[in-house]
Amino acid sequence: MPMGSRQHPTRLALAALTCTVLAAGCGGPAEKDRIALVGVNVISGAGDAPLRDAVIVVRGGKIEQVAPREGFKIPRSAEQVDATGKWVIPGLIDGHGHVERWALGTYISAGVTTVRDMHGKQDSILALREEVSLGGEVAPRIYSAGAMLDAPPTTYLDATPISNGTEARRAVDALAVAGADYIKVYTRITPELLKPLLDEAATFNLRTGAHLGLTDAVTAARLGIRSVEHMSGVVEAASTTPQKFYAEHKAGFFRGWNAFEAGWVTADSAALTRVAGVLAEQRVAVVPTLVLHETFSRLDDPAILTQPDLRHVPQSVRDRWNVPDLKARAGWGEAEFATFRAARPNQDLFLRAYRAAGGRVIAGTDAANQMLVPGWSLHSELELLVHAGLTPMDALMTATHNTAQLLGADSIGMIAPGKVADLVVLGANPLDDIRNTRTVEQVMIRGQLYRADSLAARH
Ligand SMILES: [Zn+2]
Repeated sequence: MPMGSRQHPTRLALAALTCTVLAAGCGGPAEKDRIALVGVNVISGAGDAPLRDAVIVVRGGKIEQVAPREGFKIPRSAEQVDATGKWVIPGLIDGHGHVERWALGTYISAGVTTVRDMHGKQDSILALREEVSLGGEVAPRIYSAGAMLDAPPTTYLDATPISNGTEARRAVDALAVAGADYIKVYTRITPELLKPLLDEAATFNLRTGAHLGLTDAVTAARLGIRSVEHMSGVVEAASTTPQKFYAEHKAGFFRGWNAFEAGWVTADSAALTRVAGVLAEQRVAVVPTLVLHETFSRLDDPAILTQPDLRHVPQSVRDRWNVPDLKARAGWGEAEFATFRAARPNQDLFLRAYRAAGGRVIAGTDAANQMLVPGWSLHSELELLVHAGLTPMDALMTATHNTAQLLGADSIGMIAPGKVADLVVLGANPLDDIRNTRTVEQVMIRGQLYRADSLAARH
């Protein structure tokens, strides 16, 4: 099939189907109700060996068949797309994001077909989720926490403040009624608040992810949280004197963040390994967001400030991103950046220990916080995860199957019959070099195939 024009956005498959279905004589002899990607190498997302030279048949937004090409009879009603030698992976999932409307096409062009949103202005993020799920928008699937829960004074004005157990339960009830997919708690939540909050969340079968501050990760795990964001609470759990961290978290968000990063530098490796073991055993997912730690550690580095991925960010958004202002608010200078960089090896060590203990790592980015480019920063995260010691296959699972499991969404994150047809066609093998996940050529979302270069950010 000829590749579509460069007009925006190019729905290759739909255009072909419309032609054959609606206009007699303009297509083949049979009505086309399927798409077959032919000759592809398939990485399923389940961790098994790739299936080479295969055919993926898609029908009605779902994967119908995956089979070796040899001896396979492609259904006559399938529109064939020759993708010989290309590599196909499940649509990528950003396990920690903050979705903004301008970024919807950017996510798709980067191969990210689902985002686990971890806090937004509640009405607008839930409305955007609904709008996207109704279709008509070239956009990733959105799962959303709605507004996060924090204790007063909340770091973010649009967070929901809770001061006691009753308020914690009420806030969870309100999120359940509003239709949040899970709960996000923030740094000022103490164990005393977390306990009733998790108890209430359990009655609605809502999972809770936490950016911890005043609760350490082991305590939070034992109370029942399902994910630790940014590896927060880990150095507090590994420390013999956690009070010094809590004093800083109480004093303010950035005071807490700075103390936490400094804590990694001096953390005892045996203690980190012990914490990793507890989190793995308690089946708490870890969303390290290495790209966030790495980016914050290099805000004085021109390589970060002029990274090529920034071309995907509209100028109007770039104008709002203000690194000097962030540095001033956070109190970051040369000494802090040096500390953040010195923290990175122990963060990687912790991740290796967690993975070795059977833990489930989740790739996340914290985009679209400043300097974190929606979609593309997930590729950086995968590279950092491999640098930390994961295999490329493991890294791919952190952005596909593992996250689908955390979301409780078993229809995404895997290429297999019956799963939804969210796929990425790559020009090169990501198992050879994880950076090859960046060679996105085509993206299929809900069974519709798009040329990656036809999708642009909304300016
Ligand atoms: Zn976040």
